Amino acid sequence: MIKTDICIVGAGPGGATTALKLSHLGIPCMLVDKAVFPRDKVCGDAISGKGLMVLRRIDPGIVERFEAATEEQVPVWGIRFGTPTAKQLDIPFRPDYDPANDAKQGFVCKRLDFDNRLVEEVKRRSNVQLFEGISIENYERKANGYLVSNADGSFQVECRILIVANGAYSAFTRHHAKFDKDDGHYAGGVRAYYRNVKGLHPDGFIELHFLKEINPGYLWIFGLPNGYANIGLGMRSDHISQRRYNLTKGLQDIIANHPDFQGRFEDAELLGKITGYGMPLGSKKRQLSGEHYMLVGDAGHLIDPLSGEGIGNAVYSGFIAAEQAQKCLEANDFSASFMNAYDVRVERVLGKDMEVSYQIQQMLARPWLVNLAAWLVLRNPNLMYVISQMYSDMEYRKKALNPLFWIKMMVSKK
Ligand SMILES: Cc1cc2nc3c(=O)[nH]c(=O)nc-3n(C[C@H](O)[C@H](O)[C@H](O)COP(=O)(O)OP(=O)(O)OC[C@H]3O[C@@H](n4cnc5c(N)ncnc54)[C@H](O)[C@@H]3O)c2cc1C
Repeated sequence: MIKTDICIVGAGPGGATTALKLSHLGIPCMLVDKAVFPRDKVCGDAISGKGLMVLRRIDPGIVERFEAATEEQVPVWGIRFGTPTAKQLDIPFRPDYDPANDAKQGFVCKRLDFDNRLVEEVKRRSNVQLFEGISIENYERKANGYLVSNADGSFQVECRILIVANGAYSAFTRHHAKFDKDDGHYAGGVRAYYRNVKGLHPDGFIELHFLKEINPGYLWIFGLPNGYANIGLGMRSDHISQRRYNLTKGLQDIIANHPDFQGRFEDAELLGKITGYGMPLGSKKRQLSGEHYMLVGDAGHLIDPLSGEGIGNAVYSGFIAAEQAQKCLEANDFSASFMNAYDVRVERVLGKDMEVSYQIQQMLARPWLVNLAAWLVLRNPNLMYVISQMYSDMEYRKKALNPLFWIKMMVSKK
C-alpha cells in the first residue's frame, strides 16, 4: 500500500493541472489514471484562452511548449454563427485581428494531443508520481482520509486529501458526494472526425449552427490541421428525452440531407465512429468538497452551460484545488468546513459565468430570438463586436443581460 498526502484520481486537464500546480508549490502528490496516454476523449477539441491563462500562471513554459507544436493545432480567430433561418455571421474575437502578429486566443487541438501534452508536462516534474492504466474502483473513508484501490485490491493508496478529477462518469461524485443526475443541467454530445469538409473558414473560425431542426441544440464544425475537422451535435438531456432524439442519427441526417451542409460533406470521409459522452453542466450549484476531498472539472459538474466548454473550468478548478490542498496541509485541517473555502473560491471565479451562461442558454432555445438577434447584428457592426466579445469575455456576457446596454450599442456610432 502507498501512503501519500494527496492522491488525484484522473489525469485529464483537471487532474493534470492540479498535479502541476501542487508540484510548482513544492508539494508532492500522486496522480492515477485508468488510461495510458496518449488517450482520446470525446470532445469538440476547442481549447479556449481561459485554461491557457491558468496554465501560464503555473508556468509560462507549459503554454509555450504547447504553442510550439503548431502541427497539432489550428489557432481560432473568431466564431461563425449559423442561425435557424440559415443566415451566417462571421464574428472575429477582435475587429482588426492580425493572425501573423496578434497573441492567439484559442485553438482547436485533438484531445489525444492536448491531454497528452499536459501529461508530458507532469512527467517532467519529479515530485509527481504518475500511475497510468489503473482504474480506481473503490473509495473507503478512513479516520484520516481515504483508502482508494483498483478492483482486485492489488493497487491501494491511503491519502489525507483525495482530489477527484475522473470526469463526467465519476462514481465518487455519484455515490460519495451524492450528486443527482438532473437532466435540466446535463447535456449529451456526439462527435466525429471527418476529412475534406468544404468551406472551413481560412482563419480557423469555429462554427456553431443553431438549426431549427435541432433546436435547442447546436451543431459544431471545428477545423483541425491537415484537412481534418471535428463535427458534433450537443443538446440538453431533458430535451433529448422529451423529443426521444437520437444525436448520432441527427448528426448523420444533417450531414447527408441538410441543404446547407450536404454539399460541404459531399467529398468528406468519416474517420472512425461517431461517439457520444455526457456533459455535466455547471448551471446548478453543488457542494464540491467535503471532509478530506474535493471534486475538480467534470467530476464537479463544471461545464459552461452555454458554450459546452469544460476544459478551461477543469483547469481553473484544478488550480484552486491545489492551493486549497496546500492550505489544508499547512493548517492540518481537512474538515468539511475548512475545505469549503474551495467551494467559495470556485463560486467566486466561475459562479457568475455559469449563471449568465445559463440565462443566455435559455434565451437561445427560442429560435425567433436568435433570428431577431442575427437580423439586428447583420445591420449593425457594433452588435457583431458585442456578440464576439460575449464568447470570449465574461464581462460582456454580464452586460448583455441588460437591455439598456443593447440599445446603447445599437445607437452608438463606433
Ligand atoms: C461531445 C463533447 C464536446 C465537448 N467539447 C468541448 C470543447 O470543444 N471545449 C471544451 O473546453 N470542452 C468541451 N467539452 C467538455 C470537456 O470535454 C470536459 O469538460 C473536460 O474533458 C473536463 O476535463 P476533466 O479533466 O474534468 O475530465 P476528463 O477530461 O474526462 O478526464 C478524466 C480522466 O479521468 C480518467 N478516469 C476516469 N475514470 C477513472 C477511474 N475510475 N480511475 C482512474 N482514472 C479514471 C479518465 O481516463 C480521464 O483521463 C465537451 C464534452 C463533450 C462530451
